[in-house]
Amino acid sequence: MDLYEYQGKELFRRFGIPVSEGRLATTPAEARVASEELGGQVVVKAQVLAGGRGKAGGIKLAGGPDEAEECAAAILGMDISGHVVRRLWIERASDITREYYLSLTFDRGEKKPLFMFTTEGGVDIEEVAASRPERLARLHVDPLEGYQPWHARRLVFDVGLEDPAEQKQVAVIAAQLYECFVACDAMLCEINPLIVTPEGEVRALDSKFTVDDNALFRHPDIADMRDLEAYPPEERAARAKDVTYVKLDGEVGVLGNGAGLVMSTLDVVGLAGGRAANFCDLGGGGGAQGVVDALEVITADPQVRSILLNVFGGITRCDEVARGILQAVSQMAIEHPIIVRLDGTNADEGRRLLAGAAPPNLHVEPTMLDAARRAVELVA
Ligand code: GDP
Ligand code: MN
Repeated sequence: MDLYEYQGKELFRRFGIPVSEGRLATTPAEARVASEELGGQVVVKAQVLAGGRGKAGGIKLAGGPDEAEECAAAILGMDISGHVVRRLWIERASDITREYYLSLTFDRGEKKPLFMFTTEGGVDIEEVAASRPERLARLHVDPLEGYQPWHARRLVFDVGLEDPAEQKQVAVIAAQLYECFVACDAMLCEINPLIVTPEGEVRALDSKFTVDDNALFRHPDIADMRDLEAYPPEERAARAKDVTYVKLDGEVGVLGNGAGLVMSTLDVVGLAGGRAANFCDLGGGGGAQGVVDALEVITADPQVRSILLNVFGGITRCDEVARGILQAVSQMAIEHPIIVRLDGTNADEGRRLLAGAAPPNLHVEPTMLDAARRAVELVA
């Protein structure tokens, strides 16, 4: 789960990492009030789950309340890499002498958190990594050993940061960032830029924060930070119903049980000359209600033109799935053609149930390939 800058900064603040004081605003009027409260120059920042906001014009300096209101009006509604700006973070503007970069990511290959630090921050870090890799210090932390002061010493010496006062502050922030990363079950905590002010103070001016979805149950406060409006309606419905859903860009809605079967279904749809619009995984033991929920999610996607249901009964019983299909068809008035392939546990009984009810848009096919061909054919 990705967090907005202001949410990430709130977590940074809890762990002692210095950030600027700010306010959230969703209207130009609120931006004005925020600017009045903060006083002086402020920076109006688009809150979207995408980087490069500065380059896209989503970050503007404002001299006072009038300008803050104007900037807010200009930035709200802006499209940044496909994300529409609906929230603004207004913070007290900082004077910047230098821009550094500090991050912690989880390196799955090494199974360890990885620190990265460079004095060439502010810009695209990929660019630094590609053209001047020697300027980017990389250092793994052994999770059993945890953070040790020598980690920060290595990072600052590796990039040649010589000012003792800055070294000291970076070391404190690195320790706090590690604590924050572990305590929040983060996958990424990135500060770009980590600024140095003319007074020599080191502070986080941006935040990119990703929390491991599988650990959210331990962090109800972070889970609550999720902005449901940032997701398309069918993804929202999928979350609410606990359906595993992935959006793709073709026309065939795909429903299967088990990730492996779903993946091969996508391949077979491709083989038949079509493309999947999305897929839902019913998982093992999917009962009738699971099928109804998944069909609701799939049909909420406007790109879907036909639905392919591919079930191999193991723990899942095909008669249960058939009941779910019939229940969904009777409740929901689904107009799309639904192509069903059932095999495995209780498949005969499932097929019999479907054949007996036989809604006109329901097609039962004997094999996966036949079903995929029919689904692609009926898209047209
Ligand atoms: P990003 O473009 O999405 O990474 O957004 P950032 O929060 O990193 O801001 C982009 C750039 O805007 C920074 O690298 C700074 O140069 C500039 N910026 C952001 N906040 C301030 C501020 O308070 N004062 C000044 N002078 N510049 C700022
Ligand atoms: Mn940034």
